[in-house]
Amino acid sequence: MQNAAFRELELDWRYEAIEVEPGRFDSLVHELRDHGYAGANVTVPHKLHALTVASVETEVAHAVGAANTLSFTEDGIVAHNTDVEGFLRALREQITDAPDGMRALVLGAGGAARAVVYALATQGAREVEVWNRHPERAARLTEELREHGVGVRLRAVAEPVPEGRDLLVNATSVGMTPGTVSSELAGDFKLLRISADKLTDGQVVADLVYREGGTALLRGARARGLTVVDGIDILVHQGAASFELWTGRRAPVEVMRLAARTREDHREP
Ligand code: NAP
Repeated sequence: MQNAAFRELELDWRYEAIEVEPGRFDSLVHELRDHGYAGANVTVPHKLHALTVASVETEVAHAVGAANTLSFTEDGIVAHNTDVEGFLRALREQITDAPDGMRALVLGAGGAARAVVYALATQGAREVEVWNRHPERAARLTEELREHGVGVRLRAVAEPVPEGRDLLVNATSVGMTPGTVSSELAGDFKLLRISADKLTDGQVVADLVYREGGTALLRGARARGLTVVDGIDILVHQGAASFELWTGRRAPVEVMRLAARTREDHREP
């Protein structure tokens, strides 16, 4: 996706995947900077640690408590979180003025959920509920965001209740492992403690997990005629936001989307 974008804009740049042990993360980041890299995307399990290696953190990365993008600049190593912007851009492709006035239910309390909750809470959602398998993590997430002055009605809930919510977001990793279509559908909904018949007309369903053809949750939502926000589109938009930070150029989003959609292996960058 990134390499397709570089080619499109005739930039002689290269994007490559580097696997690194947690103990080597800091030294690798400094090596990359010293070797002329413009920056990096950072993924699990380094997103929290990426903040500590940076000399500057953006307000968004600081409030979310995680960085997925580093840029190497004259000011030093800057930590950004483009998961927030990626989610918002993908959501707004479906609903232009979202999340203004929306009541949202977010499933999950990991790094992705933190970005989604921050995005919703700071961009006009009326109410944000957070459910997580381990409820104490959902409680911690909401408390920490409140400490950062996020003023919207934000609360952790013991059970996820999609009825009456305008937006349902899966920000857990449930749905990453494919099974047979019917067993997967039942299994994923069970893990998320919701049932497909509890989805209601007019609802928007977003899934951070990216899989060609969509996850069981998205397929269930589509079958009910609901508006969906696909994890691949969120991935493309967070990548486009990173691209713009590194290059200072507008990202060729459709080129990136085509590249992401035609790749068989949809791993996070
Ligand atoms: P993470 O920090 O490891 O969090 C994982 C979350 O999934 C936690 O809330 C965890 O709950 C929950 N979970 C895992 N297994 C579960 C199960 N069997 N039943 C119920 N809940 C379960 O991961 P992350 O960074 O937030 O990423 C979450 C997903 O979003 C991944 O699939 C990732 O690839 C995707 N993602 C996509 C994008 C995009 O651009 N599309 C961006 C970022 C992330 P507990 O706390 O109870 O363990």
